Amino acid sequence: MSDKDTKNPFEEIQKQLQEILKSGNSNITVSPYVAPQPTPPPQTPPESGPKENEVLQRIRAFNRKPKEIRDYLDRFVIRQTEAKKVLSVAICDHYNQVRQCIEDPQLAEKEYHKQNILLLGPTGVGKTYLMRNIAKLIGVPFVKADATKFSETGYVGADVEDLVRDLYKLANNNAELAQYGIIYIDEIDKIAGHSNLAGKDVSGRGVQINLLKLMENAEVNLFSPHDMMGQMKAMMEMSRGGKSQKRTLSTKNILFIVSGAFDKLAENVKKRLDRSQIGFSQDRKEEKDSHFLKLTQTRDFIEYGFEPEFIGRLPVRVACEPLSAEDLAEILKNSEGSILDQYRRDFKGYNIGFTITDEAIFEIARLAAKEKTGARGLMTVLEKTFRDFKFELSSTLIHNFEVTTETVEDPNKALADLLMNNQEALNEFLFKRVEEFQRSFRKKHGLEIDFSKEACEKLVAMAVDEDRSTNSLCEQLFKDYEHGLKIVARNSGKTRFLITPEAVENPDAELSKWVVESFKQKTPPTSHA
Ligand code: ADP
Repeated sequence: MSDKDTKNPFEEIQKQLQEILKSGNSNITVSPYVAPQPTPPPQTPPESGPKENEVLQRIRAFNRKPKEIRDYLDRFVIRQTEAKKVLSVAICDHYNQVRQCIEDPQLAEKEYHKQNILLLGPTGVGKTYLMRNIAKLIGVPFVKADATKFSETGYVGADVEDLVRDLYKLANNNAELAQYGIIYIDEIDKIAGHSNLAGKDVSGRGVQINLLKLMENAEVNLFSPHDMMGQMKAMMEMSRGGKSQKRTLSTKNILFIVSGAFDKLAENVKKRLDRSQIGFSQDRKEEKDSHFLKLTQTRDFIEYGFEPEFIGRLPVRVACEPLSAEDLAEILKNSEGSILDQYRRDFKGYNIGFTITDEAIFEIARLAAKEKTGARGLMTVLEKTFRDFKFELSSTLIHNFEVTTETVEDPNKALADLLMNNQEALNEFLFKRVEEFQRSFRKKHGLEIDFSKEACEKLVAMAVDEDRSTNSLCEQLFKDYEHGLKIVARNSGKTRFLITPEAVENPDAELSKWVVESFKQKTPPTSHA
């Protein structure tokens, strides 16, 4: 981050305006300037809400123990034993330090090496999930972004600092709470400054340096340099003697987590170990990448393309394990907040429940493991399995179904079988929807229409044939009945009508017939001779 990046481009304008306002010239009006990329200005901090105050009180009295945090994580995250242990300790150390500095401000002056964390491991194994749950437990704001985003924009410095501003917004503009938040940056391995033909990748190194400053201790302007309106508003408020608003946020107590898959790193570590211990290479062939990731040293990261200072700011390093099919099944069965629960809730929204056999769970897990995207594979398989069930069953009277291995293997066939075996319930639902149409017609137009049994059966047969709901079919077939029947009612005084199979078959012709007949029945007006 160059000085040019950090310098607020509106500082000079602000200074001048401040001078003018101080001189007491109250006639001044400032025309609003529309910034090229306006971000909504932070509001004047509200008096801290009860929620924020409660969290702050908890942070000031932080006394959780690592095992407590580990136990909490166990409820949600399957496996990752080592990561849970390391993270629990790092988190407790960090918030203990925060508490101690609040208790003894002199301590805050002393140098402290923050426990920023580097999480290694493949995608979808719970790296973010671990940190999200920790942030939830402590109550601090949590922001996540991909490191690649920064290298792409070009406005690297500004973007990196946006993360801090996002924390502030998430903390309901409570700067004190925001400064204890957690920033998570994924895909960090993608900004390793790999050597290439033209030398080192400069953009990656640039982002590392920006992040480095932020991880250390930076004062970040709460108003984006592009947000001129916000800058002016805050400054005017101050000049009017309003409550002085905090303008910057220190990153000193913000905890930074960076993570990445580091695909090639395991290979490099393996090579290094092979070089130093000739003779073991054969055994190592059998060992998994995750094993080598655990053995990484600072020099491996530097060789990988990280600046020594950058990697040095990440003292806590831990590798997460890949998840096996058994682990994925365990997630479905025992993790609180498992994606399967989400599907249960979705179906419950339509008043439908399902049971699932253990074999089906394992089949889902087996297929998900093949996707090689960790627990994310579960979502893909579940979506494929349940998608059509949701669509079809929500329009039937089927309130329960069972998910078996066959359902997972061939969801379409399983659904077709289910529908076939519940033809009665299906038809009953379609009949019910005809009744619903009758009721809504009466309510809307004050006219009673009754469908004969045969007319109902005809409608249901048509709906099944056309794969649509009887309700929408009725709405389409009888769309002109409101006007026609009103004419008939006026002419004949009739307000109740029987819909016959003929009317279902040819609604317009039948209605015309009724209208014509009603005119015939109409009593001629008495002549005033
Ligand atoms: P990543 O390792 O890429 O950060 P995430 O933590 O974002 O992956 O995982 C995606 C989702 O998969 C999570 O929100 C969670 O629902 C589920 N998940 C991943 N790993 C686990 C795990 N070990 N235990 C339980 N659920 C998990």
